Amino acid sequence: MNYFAGIDIGSTAIKIAIVDENRALVGQKISASGSMFYKYAQEALKELLKELNIDESDLVYTVSTGYGRKLFKEADENISEITANAIGAREAARGHCEVKTVINIGGQDSKAISLDNDGNVVNFSMNDRCAAGTGKFLDVVALKLEIGVDELSEYHFKSQGTPLPINSTCAVFAESEIIGLLGNNNSVEDIVAGVHYSIAKRIVKLVKRVGIKEGLYFDGGPALNGGLVNAIENEIGKEIFIPEFPQITTSFGAAVLAQESHQYENAI
Ligand code: ADP
Repeated sequence: MNYFAGIDIGSTAIKIAIVDENRALVGQKISASGSMFYKYAQEALKELLKELNIDESDLVYTVSTGYGRKLFKEADENISEITANAIGAREAARGHCEVKTVINIGGQDSKAISLDNDGNVVNFSMNDRCAAGTGKFLDVVALKLEIGVDELSEYHFKSQGTPLPINSTCAVFAESEIIGLLGNNNSVEDIVAGVHYSIAKRIVKLVKRVGIKEGLYFDGGPALNGGLVNAIENEIGKEIFIPEFPQITTSFGAAVLAQESHQYENAI
């Protein structure tokens, strides 16, 4: 059996997805990027193949993507995260939703991608200048509130009142604003809901730049946060499809492309 790997070297995490000849996901791994992400990506791939009992010689094609993609020299090909994200979204939502608008929130950036009826990228918009509206912002907030990022959703749904407005447009100032809100005896639940709505408002602005088309899809690590999903759905006023493994869909897209490229090379 031949296998295909997609490696997404992100700013926060390295994500690896392995697919078989039928493009079915057979394994995945998420590990921290760190400073030596090339070395970490290499090690993570080796470990994953071992866990899956796949011989290295059976891995016939690898596509890298993400911020550190060009440094992963073993890859047969590298593609932009926009293309990989679009392919991954299309495949991950197959049978559930025809994706037309992809929202991706990563560790240090957020994007909106508009797709045509064939799943091709027609336009995209990106925020990589400001931490507000990214996973980093959520990490800072969670740290300040002394809770885990994986607990934010629970707090969001326990919020009783109107979500507190967070007015600062910068993550650094927002941190001081949160300290002020805590000092004024506001609950952690209401602060968390307020943070989610402030991110949701920014994301909706980003999505509006490419146009909001039905077939909305959201991925990246923060899509694991159901509270944030709820806030974005309420701000957009439409339902959004979340894939089963939102953090690895870009690497999954790269793995799917690896299978397609290999098939194409063997057909000519
Ligand atoms: P990148 O591709 O830029 O490395 P990711 O898509 O991996 O980024 O997203 C990383 C972000 O996802 C983290 O900063 C964190 O805020 C969020 N995250 C990771 N795991 C979880 C979780 N279990 N629940 C909620 N949020 C999470």
